[in-house]
Amino acid sequence: MTVRWHETPLLDPGMFYDYERAILAQASTGDVALGFARLGPCALVGAFDDPDRSLRRSFVDGHLPIVRRRTGGGSLYVDQGTTLMVAAIPQALVAQHTLTAIIALVGEVIAEALRSQGIPATFTAPNDITDDGRKRGSVFAVRCGEEILIEAALLFAVDIDSLMKTIKLPLEKLSAAGLLAAAQRFAPIGGREPSAVAARTYPAIAAAVATRLTMGVAVQTPPAVRIEPPPPGRTGLIPDVSAFLKTQGGVLYLDLQLDGENVRAARIIGGVQCAGATDLERLADAMTGVRLDDLEAAALAAAPRDTLGFDHRDLGYLARLCVERQLLGERLGIPGGAERVTLYSPRRDQGFADLLADVGALLLPYCAKPAWCKWRHRDGCPECGQCAVGEAYRLGRERDLPVTTITRYEHLHMALAQLRATGIRTFLGVCCTEFFLKRDYAFIEAGLGAIFIDIGGDTCYALRAEESAYRGEFTAEATLDSQLLDQVLRLSDTHYPSIQNE
Ligand code: SF4
Ligand code: SF4
Repeated sequence: MTVRWHETPLLDPGMFYDYERAILAQASTGDVALGFARLGPCALVGAFDDPDRSLRRSFVDGHLPIVRRRTGGGSLYVDQGTTLMVAAIPQALVAQHTLTAIIALVGEVIAEALRSQGIPATFTAPNDITDDGRKRGSVFAVRCGEEILIEAALLFAVDIDSLMKTIKLPLEKLSAAGLLAAAQRFAPIGGREPSAVAARTYPAIAAAVATRLTMGVAVQTPPAVRIEPPPPGRTGLIPDVSAFLKTQGGVLYLDLQLDGENVRAARIIGGVQCAGATDLERLADAMTGVRLDDLEAAALAAAPRDTLGFDHRDLGYLARLCVERQLLGERLGIPGGAERVTLYSPRRDQGFADLLADVGALLLPYCAKPAWCKWRHRDGCPECGQCAVGEAYRLGRERDLPVTTITRYEHLHMALAQLRATGIRTFLGVCCTEFFLKRDYAFIEAGLGAIFIDIGGDTCYALRAEESAYRGEFTAEATLDSQLLDQVLRLSDTHYPSIQNE
Protein backbone atom coordinates (compact mmCIF):
# COMPACT_ATOMS: atom_id res chain seq x y z
CA MET A 1 0.00 0.00 0.00
CA THR A 2 1.09 3.52 -0.74
CA VAL A 3 0.81 7.07 0.55
CA ARG A 4 -0.24 8.99 -2.58
CA TRP A 5 0.29 12.71 -2.16
CA HIS A 6 -0.22 15.88 -4.16
CA GLU A 7 -0.18 19.64 -3.89
CA THR A 8 -3.15 21.63 -5.20
CA PRO A 9 -3.17 24.96 -6.95
CA LEU A 10 -4.81 27.73 -4.90
CA LEU A 11 -8.44 26.64 -4.35
CA ASP A 12 -11.57 28.74 -4.08
CA PRO A 13 -12.74 28.28 -0.44
CA GLY A 14 -16.10 27.06 -1.77
CA MET A 15 -14.32 24.00 -3.20
CA PHE A 16 -13.09 22.74 0.13
CA TYR A 17 -16.09 20.50 0.88
CA ASP A 18 -15.70 18.78 -2.50
CA TYR A 19 -11.95 18.55 -1.97
CA GLU A 20 -12.44 16.66 1.31
CA ARG A 21 -14.86 14.32 -0.52
CA ALA A 22 -12.30 13.72 -3.27
CA ILE A 23 -9.56 12.87 -0.77
CA LEU A 24 -11.86 10.41 1.02
CA ALA A 25 -12.73 8.82 -2.32
CA GLN A 26 -9.04 8.36 -3.18
CA ALA A 27 -8.42 6.54 0.11
CA SER A 28 -11.29 4.12 -0.41
CA THR A 29 -8.94 2.12 -2.64
CA GLY A 30 -6.94 1.13 0.49
CA ASP A 31 -4.12 3.61 -0.06
CA VAL A 32 -3.55 6.70 2.03
CA ALA A 33 -4.51 9.90 0.19
CA LEU A 34 -2.64 13.00 1.26
CA GLY A 35 -3.03 16.51 -0.15
CA PHE A 36 -1.53 19.90 0.60
CA ALA A 37 -4.14 22.53 -0.24
CA ARG A 38 -4.15 26.29 0.00
CA LEU A 39 -7.37 28.30 0.00
CA GLY A 40 -8.20 31.89 -0.73
CA PRO A 41 -8.98 33.93 2.43
CA CYS A 42 -11.87 32.49 4.43
CA ALA A 43 -13.11 31.63 7.90
CA LEU A 44 -12.77 27.85 8.18
CA VAL A 45 -15.22 26.74 10.85
CA GLY A 46 -14.85 23.48 12.79
CA ALA A 47 -17.55 20.84 12.24
CA PHE A 48 -19.14 21.39 15.65
CA ASP A 49 -18.36 25.07 16.10
CA ASP A 50 -20.85 27.92 16.23
CA PRO A 51 -19.73 30.71 13.87
CA ASP A 52 -21.80 33.21 15.86
CA ARG A 53 -19.72 32.46 18.93
CA SER A 54 -16.31 31.89 17.38
CA LEU A 55 -16.21 34.52 14.62
CA ARG A 56 -16.41 38.30 14.72
CA ARG A 57 -19.45 38.35 12.46
CA SER A 58 -19.39 42.15 12.23
CA PHE A 59 -16.10 41.84 10.34
CA VAL A 60 -16.55 38.49 8.59
CA ASP A 61 -20.02 38.97 7.07
CA GLY A 62 -19.67 40.51 3.62
CA HIS A 63 -15.87 40.25 3.89
CA LEU A 64 -14.94 36.59 4.00
CA PRO A 65 -16.66 33.35 3.00
CA ILE A 66 -17.46 31.06 5.92
CA VAL A 67 -16.57 27.46 5.08
CA ARG A 68 -17.39 24.54 7.35
CA ARG A 69 -14.93 21.64 7.38
CA ARG A 70 -15.72 18.01 8.22
CA THR A 71 -13.30 17.85 11.16
CA GLY A 72 -14.03 19.44 14.54
CA GLY A 73 -11.84 21.81 16.53
CA GLY A 74 -11.61 25.56 16.62
CA SER A 75 -12.49 27.90 13.78
CA LEU A 76 -9.56 29.31 11.79
CA TYR A 77 -8.71 32.26 9.64
CA VAL A 78 -7.16 30.76 6.50
CA ASP A 79 -5.38 32.42 3.58
CA GLN A 80 -2.54 31.56 1.20
CA GLY A 81 -0.11 31.51 4.14
CA THR A 82 -1.83 28.47 5.65
CA THR A 83 -1.48 25.05 4.07
CA LEU A 84 -4.24 22.59 4.87
CA MET A 85 -2.85 19.08 4.94
CA VAL A 86 -5.83 16.84 4.21
CA ALA A 87 -5.36 13.10 4.54
CA ALA A 88 -7.66 10.09 4.46
CA ILE A 89 -6.42 6.93 6.15
CA PRO A 90 -8.29 3.60 6.02
CA GLN A 91 -9.57 2.96 9.56
CA ALA A 92 -8.11 -0.55 9.52
CA LEU A 93 -4.60 0.96 9.62
CA VAL A 94 -5.23 2.60 13.01
CA ALA A 95 -7.99 0.34 14.29
CA GLN A 96 -6.84 0.37 17.92
CA HIS A 97 -6.28 4.13 18.08
CA THR A 98 -8.55 6.58 19.88
CA LEU A 99 -9.09 10.05 18.43
CA THR A 100 -6.54 11.38 20.91
CA ALA A 101 -3.97 8.78 19.81
CA ILE A 102 -4.56 9.43 16.09
CA ILE A 103 -4.10 13.18 16.53
CA ALA A 104 -0.96 12.64 18.61
CA LEU A 105 0.43 10.24 15.99
CA VAL A 106 -0.14 12.67 13.12
CA GLY A 107 1.06 15.67 15.14
CA GLU A 108 4.27 13.87 16.08
CA VAL A 109 4.89 12.78 12.48
CA ILE A 110 4.48 16.34 11.20
CA ALA A 111 6.72 17.74 13.96
CA GLU A 112 9.35 15.10 13.13
CA ALA A 113 9.18 16.00 9.42
CA LEU A 114 9.61 19.70 10.21
CA ARG A 115 12.60 18.95 12.42
CA SER A 116 14.12 16.92 9.59
CA GLN A 117 14.06 20.18 7.60
CA GLY A 118 15.83 22.09 10.36
CA ILE A 119 12.56 23.65 11.62
CA PRO A 120 12.13 23.25 15.40
CA ALA A 121 8.73 21.72 16.18
CA THR A 122 7.05 19.67 18.90
CA PHE A 123 3.63 18.09 19.17
CA THR A 124 1.79 19.64 22.13
CA ALA A 125 -1.35 17.87 23.35
CA PRO A 126 -4.15 17.98 22.72
CA ASN A 127 -3.64 19.00 19.07
CA ASP A 128 -1.02 21.67 18.43
CA ILE A 129 2.35 21.73 16.73
CA THR A 130 4.47 24.31 18.50
CA ASP A 131 7.93 25.79 18.83
CA ASP A 132 8.77 26.92 22.33
CA GLY A 133 5.09 27.34 23.16
CA ARG A 134 4.31 29.27 19.97
CA LYS A 135 1.90 27.73 17.53
CA ARG A 136 3.05 26.37 14.15
CA GLY A 137 -0.11 24.42 13.37
CA SER A 138 -3.03 22.32 14.62
CA VAL A 139 -4.31 18.83 13.86
CA PHE A 140 -7.94 17.71 13.56
CA ALA A 141 -9.52 14.32 12.76
CA VAL A 142 -12.90 12.66 12.36
CA ARG A 143 -14.14 9.23 11.29
CA CYS A 144 -15.91 9.28 7.90
CA GLY A 145 -17.29 5.86 6.91
CA GLU A 146 -14.35 3.45 6.51
CA GLU A 147 -11.79 6.25 6.55
CA ILE A 148 -10.36 8.69 9.04
CA LEU A 149 -10.15 12.20 7.71
CA ILE A 150 -7.20 14.10 9.11
CA GLU A 151 -6.67 17.81 8.61
CA ALA A 152 -3.74 19.88 9.78
CA ALA A 153 -3.53 23.65 9.46
CA LEU A 154 0.16 24.42 8.88
CA LEU A 155 0.99 28.08 9.40
CA PHE A 156 3.70 28.96 6.88
CA ALA A 157 2.87 32.67 7.19
CA VAL A 158 0.40 34.37 9.54
CA ASP A 159 -1.59 37.53 8.84
CA ILE A 160 -2.20 38.47 12.48
CA ASP A 161 -4.35 41.45 11.70
CA SER A 162 -6.86 39.46 9.62
CA LEU A 163 -6.75 36.57 12.07
CA MET A 164 -7.58 38.79 15.04
CA LYS A 165 -10.36 40.50 13.10
CA THR A 166 -11.87 37.14 12.11
CA ILE A 167 -11.65 34.98 15.22
CA LYS A 168 -13.33 36.05 18.46
CA LEU A 169 -11.34 33.98 20.89
CA PRO A 170 -7.72 32.96 20.80
CA LEU A 171 -7.04 29.81 18.84
CA GLU A 172 -4.57 28.42 21.27
CA LYS A 173 -4.81 27.40 24.86
CA LEU A 174 -2.84 30.12 26.61
CA SER A 175 -0.26 29.29 29.23
CA ALA A 176 -0.20 30.97 32.62
CA ALA A 177 2.78 32.96 31.45
CA GLY A 178 0.91 34.08 28.40
CA LEU A 179 0.52 37.80 28.26
CA LEU A 180 2.23 37.87 24.91
CA ALA A 181 1.09 40.01 22.07
CA ALA A 182 -0.94 38.04 19.54
CA ALA A 183 1.89 37.92 17.02
CA GLN A 184 4.19 36.35 19.58
CA ARG A 185 1.81 33.44 20.04
CA PHE A 186 2.58 32.12 16.56
CA ALA A 187 5.77 30.78 15.03
CA PRO A 188 5.18 30.74 11.26
CA ILE A 189 6.95 27.75 9.69
CA GLY A 190 7.98 29.60 6.55
CA GLY A 191 10.11 32.41 7.98
CA ARG A 192 10.97 34.87 5.22
CA GLU A 193 10.37 32.37 2.41
CA PRO A 194 7.02 30.68 3.09
CA SER A 195 6.57 29.27 -0.43
CA ALA A 196 10.09 27.83 -0.68
CA VAL A 197 9.90 26.32 2.81
CA ALA A 198 6.46 24.85 2.04
CA ALA A 199 7.75 23.29 -1.19
CA ARG A 200 10.48 21.36 0.61
CA THR A 201 8.30 20.51 3.63
CA TYR A 202 5.47 18.75 1.74
CA PRO A 203 7.54 15.80 0.48
CA ALA A 204 9.20 15.50 3.89
CA ILE A 205 5.79 15.19 5.59
CA ALA A 206 4.53 12.70 3.00
CA ALA A 207 7.68 10.59 3.47
CA ALA A 208 7.37 10.74 7.29
CA VAL A 209 3.71 9.58 7.12
CA ALA A 210 4.71 6.69 4.82
CA THR A 211 7.57 5.66 7.10
CA ARG A 212 5.32 5.69 10.19
CA LEU A 213 2.70 3.56 8.40
CA THR A 214 5.39 1.36 6.75
CA MET A 215 4.06 2.15 3.30
CA GLY A 216 5.52 3.29 0.01
CA VAL A 217 5.16 6.88 -1.16
CA ALA A 218 4.19 8.27 -4.58
CA VAL A 219 3.20 11.62 -6.05
CA GLN A 220 -0.28 11.88 -7.56
CA THR A 221 -2.05 14.54 -9.60
CA PRO A 222 -4.49 16.61 -7.50
CA PRO A 223 -8.18 15.70 -7.91
CA ALA A 224 -10.46 17.90 -9.99
CA VAL A 225 -12.83 19.67 -7.62
CA ARG A 226 -15.71 22.10 -7.95
CA ILE A 227 -17.51 24.62 -5.81
CA GLU A 228 -20.06 22.74 -3.73
CA PRO A 229 -21.67 23.88 -0.49
CA PRO A 230 -21.84 21.38 2.37
CA PRO A 231 -25.34 20.01 3.09
CA PRO A 232 -27.22 22.28 5.50
CA GLY A 233 -26.65 21.19 9.08
CA ARG A 234 -29.24 21.53 11.81
CA THR A 235 -30.66 24.99 11.77
CA GLY A 236 -29.85 27.38 14.59
CA LEU A 237 -31.80 27.10 17.77
CA ILE A 238 -32.91 30.16 19.70
CA PRO A 239 -32.32 29.01 23.26
CA ASP A 240 -34.36 29.67 26.37
CA VAL A 241 -31.25 29.00 28.44
CA SER A 242 -27.58 28.30 27.64
CA ALA A 243 -24.40 27.39 29.45
CA PHE A 244 -20.74 27.09 28.53
CA LEU A 245 -17.78 25.18 29.90
CA LYS A 246 -14.15 25.66 29.03
CA THR A 247 -12.28 22.36 28.69
CA GLN A 248 -8.78 21.50 27.58
CA GLY A 249 -10.29 20.52 24.22
CA GLY A 250 -12.14 23.83 23.69
CA VAL A 251 -15.25 25.63 24.90
CA LEU A 252 -18.46 23.56 24.94
CA TYR A 253 -21.86 25.26 24.72
CA LEU A 254 -25.25 23.82 25.53
CA ASP A 255 -28.37 25.60 24.25
CA LEU A 256 -31.78 24.44 25.44
CA GLN A 257 -35.32 25.24 24.38
CA LEU A 258 -37.71 24.41 27.17
CA ASP A 259 -41.26 23.27 27.43
CA GLY A 260 -42.02 23.84 31.10
CA GLU A 261 -39.71 21.53 33.06
CA ASN A 262 -38.80 19.49 29.96
CA VAL A 263 -36.25 19.98 27.20
CA ARG A 264 -37.99 20.66 23.90
CA ALA A 265 -34.76 20.88 21.86
CA ALA A 266 -31.04 20.79 22.67
CA ARG A 267 -27.88 21.75 20.84
CA ILE A 268 -24.32 21.02 21.93
CA ILE A 269 -21.71 22.91 20.03
CA GLY A 270 -18.18 24.25 20.31
CA GLY A 271 -14.67 24.29 18.89
CA VAL A 272 -14.13 20.73 20.07
CA GLN A 273 -13.30 17.39 18.46
CA CYS A 274 -15.29 14.15 18.57
CA ALA A 275 -14.40 10.95 16.70
CA GLY A 276 -17.86 10.65 15.14
CA ALA A 277 -19.34 13.33 12.89
CA THR A 278 -22.79 13.02 14.50
CA ASP A 279 -21.72 12.36 18.11
CA LEU A 280 -22.94 15.69 19.51
CA GLU A 281 -26.18 15.61 17.51
CA ARG A 282 -26.95 12.18 18.95
CA LEU A 283 -26.25 13.46 22.44
CA ALA A 284 -28.59 16.42 21.83
CA ASP A 285 -31.30 13.98 20.68
CA ALA A 286 -30.83 11.95 23.87
CA MET A 287 -31.36 15.11 25.94
CA THR A 288 -34.54 16.08 24.11
CA GLY A 289 -37.77 15.38 26.01
CA VAL A 290 -35.86 14.87 29.27
CA ARG A 291 -36.93 16.59 32.50
CA LEU A 292 -34.45 19.22 33.69
CA ASP A 293 -33.97 17.25 36.91
CA ASP A 294 -32.72 14.30 34.89
CA LEU A 295 -30.66 16.21 32.33
CA GLU A 296 -27.24 15.65 33.87
CA ALA A 297 -27.84 11.89 34.13
CA ALA A 298 -29.10 11.79 30.52
CA ALA A 299 -26.00 13.67 29.31
CA LEU A 300 -23.66 11.38 31.23
CA ALA A 301 -25.36 8.27 29.85
CA ALA A 302 -25.41 9.37 26.20
CA ALA A 303 -22.12 11.30 26.02
CA PRO A 304 -19.70 10.23 23.28
CA ARG A 305 -16.65 8.47 24.71
CA ASP A 306 -14.05 9.08 21.97
CA THR A 307 -13.40 12.81 22.27
CA LEU A 308 -10.38 15.10 22.52
CA GLY A 309 -9.61 17.08 25.68
CA PHE A 310 -13.04 16.65 27.29
CA ASP A 311 -15.12 13.71 28.42
CA HIS A 312 -18.60 12.58 29.56
CA ARG A 313 -18.08 14.23 32.97
CA ASP A 314 -17.64 17.60 31.26
CA LEU A 315 -20.84 17.09 29.29
CA GLY A 316 -22.73 16.07 32.43
CA TYR A 317 -21.42 19.14 34.25
CA LEU A 318 -22.36 21.37 31.32
CA ALA A 319 -25.93 20.08 31.61
CA ARG A 320 -25.88 20.85 35.35
CA LEU A 321 -24.61 24.39 34.70
CA CYS A 322 -27.48 24.96 32.30
CA VAL A 323 -30.06 23.71 34.81
CA GLU A 324 -28.44 25.88 37.51
CA ARG A 325 -28.79 28.93 35.29
CA GLN A 326 -32.41 28.15 34.56
CA LEU A 327 -33.13 27.80 38.28
CA LEU A 328 -31.28 31.03 39.09
CA GLY A 329 -33.24 32.82 36.36
CA GLU A 330 -36.50 31.63 37.94
CA ARG A 331 -35.33 32.83 41.35
CA LEU A 332 -34.31 36.21 39.97
CA GLY A 333 -37.42 36.48 37.85
CA ILE A 334 -35.28 36.80 34.72
CA PRO A 335 -36.58 34.99 31.65
CA GLY A 336 -33.71 33.35 29.80
CA GLY A 337 -32.13 31.67 32.77
CA ALA A 338 -29.89 34.44 34.10
CA GLU A 339 -27.82 34.41 30.93
CA ARG A 340 -25.44 37.02 32.29
CA VAL A 341 -24.61 35.23 35.52
CA THR A 342 -21.99 32.47 35.49
CA LEU A 343 -20.86 30.18 38.25
CA TYR A 344 -17.36 28.89 38.83
CA SER A 345 -16.87 26.07 41.29
CA PRO A 346 -13.25 24.83 41.38
CA ARG A 347 -14.24 21.29 42.37
CA ARG A 348 -17.57 21.39 40.54
CA ASP A 349 -19.37 20.64 43.77
CA GLN A 350 -21.15 23.97 44.35
CA GLY A 351 -24.16 25.42 42.61
CA PHE A 352 -25.38 29.01 42.67
CA ALA A 353 -27.11 28.55 46.03
CA ASP A 354 -23.96 27.28 47.77
CA LEU A 355 -21.79 29.98 46.22
CA LEU A 356 -24.23 32.79 46.94
CA ALA A 357 -24.42 31.75 50.58
CA ASP A 358 -20.64 31.98 50.81
CA VAL A 359 -19.84 35.26 48.98
CA GLY A 360 -17.12 37.10 50.91
CA ALA A 361 -15.93 39.83 48.54
CA LEU A 362 -16.88 41.87 45.50
CA LEU A 363 -14.44 42.45 42.61
CA LEU A 364 -15.19 45.08 39.97
CA PRO A 365 -13.35 45.94 36.73
CA TYR A 366 -11.85 49.38 36.20
CA CYS A 367 -13.27 49.44 32.65
CA ALA A 368 -16.79 50.04 34.05
CA LYS A 369 -15.70 53.31 35.67
CA PRO A 370 -16.12 56.41 33.47
CA ALA A 371 -13.02 57.38 31.46
CA TRP A 372 -13.04 60.83 33.14
CA CYS A 373 -13.23 59.49 36.70
CA LYS A 374 -10.01 60.01 38.62
CA TRP A 375 -10.70 56.68 40.36
CA ARG A 376 -10.76 54.73 37.08
CA HIS A 377 -7.22 53.42 37.45
CA ARG A 378 -7.27 53.27 41.22
CA ASP A 379 -8.82 50.86 43.65
CA GLY A 380 -11.68 52.42 45.55
CA CYS A 381 -14.61 54.77 44.90
CA PRO A 382 -16.05 57.58 47.05
CA GLU A 383 -19.55 56.83 45.63
CA CYS A 384 -20.02 60.23 44.02
CA GLY A 385 -23.25 58.94 42.50
CA GLN A 386 -22.27 59.45 38.86
CA CYS A 387 -21.88 55.83 37.74
CA ALA A 388 -23.04 52.26 38.39
CA VAL A 389 -19.70 51.31 39.94
CA GLY A 390 -20.47 53.67 42.82
CA GLU A 391 -23.80 51.88 43.28
CA ALA A 392 -21.95 48.53 43.26
CA TYR A 393 -19.63 49.82 45.98
CA ARG A 394 -22.64 50.90 48.02
CA LEU A 395 -24.33 47.51 47.65
CA GLY A 396 -21.13 45.72 48.72
CA ARG A 397 -20.31 48.03 51.60
CA GLU A 398 -23.82 47.87 53.10
CA ARG A 399 -23.25 44.12 53.42
CA ASP A 400 -19.73 44.55 54.84
CA LEU A 401 -18.25 42.95 51.73
CA PRO A 402 -14.75 44.16 50.87
CA VAL A 403 -14.96 45.75 47.40
CA THR A 404 -11.94 45.96 45.08
CA THR A 405 -11.56 47.61 41.69
CA ILE A 406 -9.23 45.44 39.62
CA THR A 407 -6.97 47.90 37.81
CA ARG A 408 -4.80 45.54 35.75
CA TYR A 409 -4.13 41.86 35.23
CA GLU A 410 -1.36 41.55 37.85
CA HIS A 411 -3.64 43.28 40.33
CA LEU A 412 -6.21 40.51 39.82
CA HIS A 413 -3.61 37.90 40.82
CA MET A 414 -2.71 39.89 43.91
CA ALA A 415 -6.34 40.50 44.88
CA LEU A 416 -7.21 36.80 44.52
CA ALA A 417 -4.17 35.79 46.60
CA GLN A 418 -5.22 38.28 49.26
CA LEU A 419 -8.78 36.91 49.36
CA ARG A 420 -7.37 33.43 49.90
CA ALA A 421 -5.00 34.64 52.58
CA THR A 422 -7.89 36.20 54.51
CA GLY A 423 -9.90 32.97 54.39
CA ILE A 424 -12.46 34.09 51.79
CA ARG A 425 -13.60 31.10 49.72
CA THR A 426 -16.02 32.74 47.28
CA PHE A 427 -16.29 36.11 45.58
CA LEU A 428 -18.77 37.88 43.38
CA GLY A 429 -16.99 39.27 40.35
CA VAL A 430 -18.05 41.57 37.53
CA CYS A 431 -16.18 41.07 34.24
CA CYS A 432 -16.82 40.26 30.60
CA THR A 433 -17.45 36.61 29.64
CA GLU A 434 -14.49 36.74 27.23
CA PHE A 435 -12.13 37.58 30.06
CA PHE A 436 -13.48 34.71 32.13
CA LEU A 437 -13.08 32.30 29.20
CA LYS A 438 -9.66 33.47 28.16
CA ARG A 439 -8.05 34.01 31.54
CA ASP A 440 -9.80 31.35 33.57
CA TYR A 441 -6.47 29.96 34.80
CA ALA A 442 -6.15 33.00 37.09
CA PHE A 443 -9.30 31.77 38.86
CA ILE A 444 -8.27 28.10 38.66
CA GLU A 445 -4.92 28.96 40.27
CA ALA A 446 -6.65 30.88 43.06
CA GLY A 447 -8.92 27.91 43.80
CA LEU A 448 -11.76 30.19 44.88
CA GLY A 449 -15.42 29.75 44.03
CA ALA A 450 -16.96 32.63 42.13
CA ILE A 451 -20.11 34.06 40.64
CA PHE A 452 -19.52 36.32 37.67
CA ILE A 453 -21.86 38.97 36.35
CA ASP A 454 -21.20 39.82 32.74
CA ILE A 455 -20.58 43.44 31.79
CA GLY A 456 -21.99 44.94 28.61
CA GLY A 457 -21.20 47.89 26.38
CA ASP A 458 -17.74 48.36 24.90
CA THR A 459 -15.62 45.47 26.12
CA CYS A 460 -11.99 45.45 25.13
CA TYR A 461 -12.55 42.12 23.35
CA ALA A 462 -15.23 43.67 21.18
CA LEU A 463 -12.78 46.45 20.43
CA ARG A 464 -9.78 44.08 20.22
CA ALA A 465 -7.90 46.00 22.87
CA GLU A 466 -7.36 43.24 25.42
CA GLU A 467 -3.60 43.65 25.66
CA SER A 468 -3.93 47.32 26.63
CA ALA A 469 -6.77 46.36 28.98
CA TYR A 470 -4.56 43.93 30.91
CA ARG A 471 -2.09 46.77 31.40
CA GLY A 472 -4.94 48.95 32.68
CA GLU A 473 -4.87 51.26 29.66
CA PHE A 474 -8.25 50.48 28.08
CA THR A 475 -10.08 53.76 27.49
CA ALA A 476 -13.59 52.70 26.37
CA GLU A 477 -16.32 52.19 28.95
CA ALA A 478 -18.09 48.93 29.72
CA THR A 479 -21.47 48.97 31.46
CA LEU A 480 -22.12 47.40 34.82
CA ASP A 481 -25.72 46.37 35.47
CA SER A 482 -26.09 47.46 39.11
CA GLN A 483 -29.74 46.35 39.12
CA LEU A 484 -28.73 42.78 38.28
CA LEU A 485 -25.96 42.96 40.88
CA ASP A 486 -28.54 44.15 43.42
CA GLN A 487 -30.86 41.25 42.54
CA VAL A 488 -28.04 38.70 42.89
CA LEU A 489 -26.89 40.17 46.22
CA ARG A 490 -30.47 40.17 47.55
CA LEU A 491 -30.75 36.50 46.62
CA SER A 492 -27.46 35.89 48.39
CA ASP A 493 -29.02 37.45 51.52
CA THR A 494 -31.90 34.94 51.46
CA HIS A 495 -29.97 31.62 51.25
CA TYR A 496 -32.21 29.87 48.77
CA PRO A 497 -31.97 26.05 48.58
CA SER A 498 -29.54 24.35 46.21
CA ILE A 499 -30.67 22.14 43.30
CA GLN A 500 -29.93 19.03 45.34
CA ASN A 501 -32.34 20.18 48.07
CA GLU A 502 -35.17 21.34 45.82
S1 SF4 B 1 -19.21 56.60 41.50
FE1 SF4 B 1 -17.04 56.16 41.90
S2 SF4 B 1 -16.31 55.21 40.02
FE2 SF4 B 1 -18.25 56.19 39.52
S3 SF4 B 1 -17.69 58.20 38.76
FE3 SF4 B 1 -18.06 58.43 40.98
S4 SF4 B 1 -16.07 58.14 41.93
FE4 SF4 B 1 -15.91 57.39 39.82
S1 SF4 C 1 -11.14 42.12 29.76
FE1 SF4 C 1 -11.48 44.28 29.22
S2 SF4 C 1 -13.71 44.53 29.02
FE2 SF4 C 1 -13.32 42.57 30.05
S3 SF4 C 1 -13.49 43.05 32.22
FE3 SF4 C 1 -11.32 43.22 31.67
S4 SF4 C 1 -10.94 45.35 31.10
FE4 SF4 C 1 -13.15 45.02 31.13
